[in-house]
Amino acid sequence: QQASSAPDLNLSTSDQLFTRAKDLIPGGVNSPVRAFRAVGGHPVFMQSAQGAWLTDVDGNRYLDFINSWGPMILGHAPQIVLDAVAQALPSSLSFGAPTRREVDMAELIIEMVPSIEKVRLVNSGTEATMSAIRVARGYTGRPKILKFEGCYHGHGDSFLIAAGSGALTLGTPDSPGVTEGVAKDTLTVPYNDLAAVAAAIEANPEQIAAIILEPVVGNIGLVPPAEGFLQGLRELCTRHGIVYIFDEVMTGFRLARGGAQELYGIEPDMTTLGKIIGGGMPVGAYGGKKEIMDQVAPAGKVYQAGTLSGNPIATAAGLAQLRYLNEHPEVYQQLERTSALLADGTRQIAAELGLNYTVNRVGSMWNVFFTTQPVTDLASAKTSDLEAFGRYFRAMLHRGIYLAPSQFEALFVSTAVTDDLVDLYLSACRAAMREAHG
Ligand code: PLP
Repeated sequence: QQASSAPDLNLSTSDQLFTRAKDLIPGGVNSPVRAFRAVGGHPVFMQSAQGAWLTDVDGNRYLDFINSWGPMILGHAPQIVLDAVAQALPSSLSFGAPTRREVDMAELIIEMVPSIEKVRLVNSGTEATMSAIRVARGYTGRPKILKFEGCYHGHGDSFLIAAGSGALTLGTPDSPGVTEGVAKDTLTVPYNDLAAVAAAIEANPEQIAAIILEPVVGNIGLVPPAEGFLQGLRELCTRHGIVYIFDEVMTGFRLARGGAQELYGIEPDMTTLGKIIGGGMPVGAYGGKKEIMDQVAPAGKVYQAGTLSGNPIATAAGLAQLRYLNEHPEVYQQLERTSALLADGTRQIAAELGLNYTVNRVGSMWNVFFTTQPVTDLASAKTSDLEAFGRYFRAMLHRGIYLAPSQFEALFVSTAVTDDLVDLYLSACRAAMREAHG
């Protein structure tokens, strides 16, 4: 195990592949954050993974704290998931017709997340959120949605909108290709700012179909909801007939068996899911109150469909992982303990070096912000020292620790991280923090 001292990495095969990839794939990657642009250097191409460890195409090993951006809560290649997939494979990869497993999956989701009374499977988190807001609009007959700065809900047009300069101003497209027409229907306010939400509702009477948020933000680094924020939104939504949507693509089945809504005791009207629900395969889901979900075709008139939705192999993988989580509640205690050791240890190491960095954590999602300010929203996250973070990231990678290649991402802990591996991480962290600030 190499994590304590591996300053020189041979990445020659990764570099060759990246050179080829750049000619063939935009930016050389199939999803932007993989390109390491925020931290410098080239992406590492992976070959295989087992438990807590990734192995790249040059044979280097890394202790993994990305875990495929969340899905691999049991670590890589857990036997129960592999067995379920192997068992499903010979029966064909897709039917385009309903299967027993989809019914079992729906039943299990509804049991684990009680606010969900009916659920529809899709193929990604993006599909889940896009569909959820369409349903909310269909249900309420209203055009606008309200979201929060720094919350990521996938790459649907309605979500790629930057904030206007006030509740009365229109949002503006945050990506070429998103039209002004779409932007005018998305309102964006700062996270944890209940007064801004109330002002936006007042400025747009009877216009807002849905409020969507990450109940714990994992897409600007980790930012917890302020005391009373989620409950305050619940009350505003109820009072104004707005559909309250928890985007639990990251937090679902991770922060608790029933997700962030169980942890904070809040009942949203709709929930979107992804990542863990697929066990590493492309799966998403959206669900909620019967009355709302019965708007979805063919029960209702809001159209949403998918050739591969409920795919038998993807469903087998997801169902096996969810069943395990459902039957082993001790997983969440274990993750809490391990994650506390990692986060508290990191805070202490930074402090020993005179760096009073902010470490935010909820359950097995956490990160260290290279700033001494409390981080409660996008603006405070942006006070981080990105240069120092980049140096730290590279120093960790060279010690065999695979962190998210951006300051503005959460880290995910899996059950495969044992106490030995926590120690391995902490000694690498101590050396890398020194190196980054040397
Ligand atoms: N919602 C949240 C909270 C996410 O973190 C993500 C992806 O990271 C998405 C939605 C989009 O999911 P996907 O990448 O599966 O489309």
